[in-house]
Amino acid sequence: MAEKTERRRLTKEQRQLVFDKMGGHCAYCGCEFSLQTMQVDHIVPLRKGGADTLGNMWPACRSCNHYKHTLTVQQFRQEVEKAPNRLMRYDTTYRLAVRFGLLELNRKPVTFYFERTGAHGRGGADNE
Ligand SMILES: [Zn+2]
Repeated sequence: MAEKTERRRLTKEQRQLVFDKMGGHCAYCGCEFSLQTMQVDHIVPLRKGGADTLGNMWPACRSCNHYKHTLTVQQFRQEVEKAPNRLMRYDTTYRLAVRFGLLELNRKPVTFYFERTGAHGRGGADNE
């Protein structure tokens, strides 16, 4: 098991501040969640030198937080953009559905929720 990076535990008020940055949405995919199910993502991962401060934290859903893990925002975007190619290569059910027109292969660039909404301006509120 890899070493665990030290991170602080947020207070209820700090979690609320992170939650409010995107109005209850995941900063990446934009799905809605409750304060209780929100996960806190370090925008610049701690393992890549990111600070353990509120200004480096965004709300994320479990799935995006899991996939992003220790990736930067740009690396995470590249991973998401690879998904259609991976599915075409490894998933016969996906290929079947595309062949029969049930799914449409779409290789458009990935735009994250914080980019679509311009919410990234609030990512820097570093009032701890
Ligand atoms: Zn998400």
